[in-house]
Order: sequence, then C-alpha cells, then structure tokens
Amino acid sequence: MTDLESSDNLIQRYLGVQQEVNTLAQAHNRQVKLLAVSKKHTCKSIEAVFAQGQRAFGENYVQEGTDKVNALSHLDIEWHFIGPIQSNKSRSVAEHFAWVHTIDREKIAQRLNDQRPESLPPLNVLIQVNISDQDSKSGVDLTQVDALANTIAQLPHLSLRGLMCIPAPQDDAQLKKEFLAMHQAYKNLQASHPSVDTLSMGMSGDLSLAIECGSNLVRIGTAIFGQRT
Ligand SMILES: *Cc1c(COP(=O)(O)O)cnc(C)c1O
Repeated sequence: MTDLESSDNLIQRYLGVQQEVNTLAQAHNRQVKLLAVSKKHTCKSIEAVFAQGQRAFGENYVQEGTDKVNALSHLDIEWHFIGPIQSNKSRSVAEHFAWVHTIDREKIAQRLNDQRPESLPPLNVLIQVNISDQDSKSGVDLTQVDALANTIAQLPHLSLRGLMCIPAPQDDAQLKKEFLAMHQAYKNLQASHPSVDTLSMGMSGDLSLAIECGSNLVRIGTAIFGQRT
C-alpha cells in the first residue's frame, strides 16, 4: 500500500466515525465529543486527521504521548492522557496534557495538582471507575467516587470534569447495565459538583451503546487509525 492510499483510507475511516458519532448524538439530542485515540500511530497520521478538523487526541503512554505533544506543538491540539499513571511519571503528564481520564487515587490527584505549571490553566480531570469490578484493573469503585471527587474539588490546579470507564469484555446486556450505572453516577456527581460535564465512555466496539446510555465523550482508536501493531 502506498502512503497516499493509506492516508486516503485513514481519512475515509475518520469521516465515517465522525458521521456515526454525529448521527447518534443527534438521535439522542446530545453533544458528543470525539476523542481520536492515536496511541501507537504516527505523528503523520495525527496530522492527517487534524487536517480534517479533529482537535482532541488521546494518548496512553507517557513517553510516547509527550514526544508527540512536543513534536506537534505547532498544532492547536487538545491532548488527553488516557493511560494508567505511575507516580514517577505524573510530572510529565501535568506539564504536557490538557485532560487526564484516569485519576483513581488521591495521591495521583495531589501530585498532578502540585506539578501543574502555574502558566497553564487547571488540568481537566476525570475519575476512572472500575465499573466491571475487575480485580486487576485500575479505577475506583462507585462507592468511592464521592470521596475522591471531594478531594479533587479542593485542589486549585485541577478541574473536576466527570467520570470515565473501561468495561470488561462482556455481553451487551451486562455492558448496558454498567453503562447505565455510570450514567447514574455521573448525574449524582453533577448534582454536587457543577463543574462536572463529561462522561467518557465508549470505544470502537461499543460507541453506539455507550452513547445510547448517556456518554458524551467517546474514545476511538481502531475505527479511525486502523489496527495497532
Ligand atoms: C486504546 C484505548 C481506546 C481506544 O480503543 P479502540 O478500541 O482502539 O477504539 C480507548 N480508551 C482507552 C483507555 C484506550 O486505552
């Protein structure tokens, strides 16, 4: 495949996803933000999607993500960090990203707050919920959301924007239950924290169900960029 052909395909896939998200959003009378998840894909691919009007991009790995933020600093991109955060890498996240979707403990919230440069606006953060109750997975239980939210709300360099989840692979009936439980938790959180306006759920395989259940931010990698190697 030549570069030209592959970049044509990329643009076709991107426009298809964008249209699908817009159609679903309209059907549910809601604005839905499309986050293009570019992990393991090149700056060239990001530039091609940017040229079509996409502004929000998501990265999972601190080193790869910060390299791309630096390489593409001439573009007006809103960068989202959506991977697990180790304490020793939090500074780089605080310095390079506009959003973080994966806050799941006080210590990381505190570090990101302390390390956020004064010259930048507050870091927009989402609390990651372990909605499928997976032993080995990141995220807090639903019962712990309030306590963590109250901590974040006290931190001046963070702005609490909502919730995020990565459900386990499972059948649609169970997935729907979990998405609806997330939406309920999101509504509850909004009632006590007016800054909350974002429910990050839905990926390439389940974006339609996620939007049906109340998502207003979907994180799409494969359906835009193709398979990761
Ligand atoms: C990789 C990743 C995505 C995108 O997944 P696709 O199935 O490729 O759309 C979304 N969210 C998170 C947290 C991811 O790590």
